[in-house]
Amino acid sequence: MEEGGEEYLFKIVVIGDSAVGKSNLLSRFARDEFDQNSKATIGVEFQTQVVEVDGKEVKAQVWDTAGQERFRAVTSAYYRGAVGALVVYDISRKTTFESIKRWLDELNTHCDTTVARMLVGNKCDLENIRDVSVEEGESLAKEEGLFFIETSALDSTNVKTAFEIVIREIYSNVS
Ligand code: GDP
Ligand code: MG
Repeated sequence: MEEGGEEYLFKIVVIGDSAVGKSNLLSRFARDEFDQNSKATIGVEFQTQVVEVDGKEVKAQVWDTAGQERFRAVTSAYYRGAVGALVVYDISRKTTFESIKRWLDELNTHCDTTVARMLVGNKCDLENIRDVSVEEGESLAKEEGLFFIETSALDSTNVKTAFEIVIREIYSNVS
């Protein structure tokens, strides 16, 4: 396909409690779109986005749970072959932050430890109703050995960066 013949396809999963903004992070990254009620994204399995890393074309195949997490039934097929993960909570809802360990456990059951993992505190536009401090996020990330970033799928803050950091990390693991 491209010169040099090398092709990279990285499967990245987005996990975290219901309504933390997973589907919107994906639609912001892949289509630069935001849905106020998100119904439109239900049923989408994954979206592919081409990103350039070190002059190489990398295809990021980003998977969305399509609402499965509501029934605590994110299947093993969802995780199969994943080399990167965004583990998302909502900075305005502490309970979603408290669930992170459970999501990391689930990730560890299905994927090996080399998966590039990013802790994402989404909805950072909701500063006025913040319920999880930046320091809490940083400290959990440090403890668990994850990258950390706060994002807003609503106003686009750091969304591209979050995916790009994960993609670069995966790339440096395989190249
Ligand atoms: P999911 O269940 O994790 O896929 O979450 P959705 O992407 O469906 O988003 C859940 C709700 O949060 C929707 O009403 C979104 O409009 C809203 N939402 C998602 N991301 C953000 C964000 O960055 N900021 C704000 N203020 N709302 C967001
Ligand atoms: Mg969703």
